[in-house]
Amino acid sequence: MRIITARRVLVGAGLDTLENGGVVIDGDRVVWVGPASELPGEFAGGDVTALGDVTVLPGLIDAHVHLGFDGGPNPVDRMMAENDARQVATMLRSARELLSCGVTTARDLGSRDLLGVAVRDAILDGTADGPRMLVAGPAITVTGGHCWFMNGEVDSPEDMRRMVRTLHKGTVDCFKVMSTGGNMTSGSAPWHAQFPQDDLAIAVDEAHRLGKTIAAHAHGVEGIRRALAAGVDTIEHCSFQTEDGSDGYDEELGAQIAASATAVSPTCSARMKDFMRLLPGRRWALGDLYRAGATIIASTDSGIDHNPHWAFVSALESMVAAGMTPRDVLLSATSVSARVLGIDDAAGRIDAGLAADLIAVHGDPRDDIAALHDLRFVMARGAEFTPDPVPVFAPLDPDDLPDMLVRMIEAQESAHAKSEPEPVEVG
Ligand SMILES: [Zn+2]
Repeated sequence: MRIITARRVLVGAGLDTLENGGVVIDGDRVVWVGPASELPGEFAGGDVTALGDVTVLPGLIDAHVHLGFDGGPNPVDRMMAENDARQVATMLRSARELLSCGVTTARDLGSRDLLGVAVRDAILDGTADGPRMLVAGPAITVTGGHCWFMNGEVDSPEDMRRMVRTLHKGTVDCFKVMSTGGNMTSGSAPWHAQFPQDDLAIAVDEAHRLGKTIAAHAHGVEGIRRALAAGVDTIEHCSFQTEDGSDGYDEELGAQIAASATAVSPTCSARMKDFMRLLPGRRWALGDLYRAGATIIASTDSGIDHNPHWAFVSALESMVAAGMTPRDVLLSATSVSARVLGIDDAAGRIDAGLAADLIAVHGDPRDDIAALHDLRFVMARGAEFTPDPVPVFAPLDPDDLPDMLVRMIEAQESAHAKSEPEPVEVG
């Protein structure tokens, strides 16, 4: 029996303040939460850790990561070059990086074959340190489509149904379908829808029949529309990205998303702060969707290029920069995410019966999300973890920007030039 006490404990789904709180942990579970002064006598012999003037809160949830991508400049090339054994080593390192910034649950929305399942199980049985992983396995895509190299290609309704069933048999926790192309796969474009709506609906029906959630990757408007109509649980990115880099946000569709049971997983990475700075004319859909009242869950797409797994807290800062309040960002990374991902009986809040996933920070992250950088304590499923040092997240070098960003800047500049009135010749 272990007893953690702290000046402040954030309890319940609303992250409400409990002053001078105590949390009792038995094995991997929380068994009691309340004022430390009211600790029941049955726990009196417990091993007490007095954390002092800190805030204890639930471990954080990143709803969109890729353990198999290393977050460097060329993660796709690396994944394709690595054999399975080497990929698993990369994935275990990624998992440890996430846990080192207080992420005690992460959803992997695309890795090769069923490698993620093996990694998930190695973490759960204590072989390796990392967050509880919810693993989708390979993202389901069309032949040659976005992330085809993860080996989830399907082209017909029958293939779609079979793929969902095959992955279920492989014990994945959830599914991921690529409703549009993406930025990272050459020959695929984010504004193009990949699947007919009926095929997406088959994937959703099968996933829900099996009691599992399904995520749809969607950038362009048509792919977002089809994914929403098919009834997916989460829309990933939901960026309304257009070919010419202009603002593609559709207010009517945004309102439909807000009124639906589908949540938005905006993959608002640490790198978004660079994007906001370098593309000042662009409107970012996350702010619009938040104001429209959509359910938002914190997610980063960590592992993709220039987006390391250890930058989770900087990603939450990007969500604040996009217009969310720190408190709503924190909820999106704890109880709201747990509910959307279907794990609120296990994670997302500090409560008796739930997993002992706790972190402690100096300050109050409900007022200032940056307080999460000052991590003082991490416990995942009852096991205390000493975080590895996390580097400072640096802005991109303006002379060495990623190609995709250079293309977006050029597209925005040419769109801007077109909208300027033609200069009138004088003379
Ligand atoms: Zn992704």
